[in-house]
Amino acid sequence: MPRWLRSLLSRMLPRKNPVHQPTSRLWTRPRLDVPRYAGAGEVPPMHWRSCHPATVRRFKAEFSCPNGHGIVLKGHSIDADGTVHPSVVCPSRSCGFHDFVRLARWDAGPV
Ligand SMILES: [Zn+2]
Repeated sequence: MPRWLRSLLSRMLPRKNPVHQPTSRLWTRPRLDVPRYAGAGEVPPMHWRSCHPATVRRFKAEFSCPNGHGIVLKGHSIDADGTVHPSVVCPSRSCGFHDFVRLARWDAGPV
């Protein structure tokens, strides 16, 4: 095959071995954005609700895992943007939920 043809083909065809882009972030797993729940009663699965303003510094927020288990984030810290540290592990034995979450519309500041 002439060189010009090979060159043309290589530009038209997708690369067989795409170069892996080096990631600048150490942790590439996406953080789950959990929507805020403002209603009454139980927090629905994969939602969170702010604790009472009087106890928010102590108990922070209530979170419900995808299986509907309620978790109080009192042992966690929360950034001003809602990012929860460390990752959230569901305490229920039958549940394997363990993930990094961010509380959408968190407005209580860093706690
Ligand atoms: Zn659970």
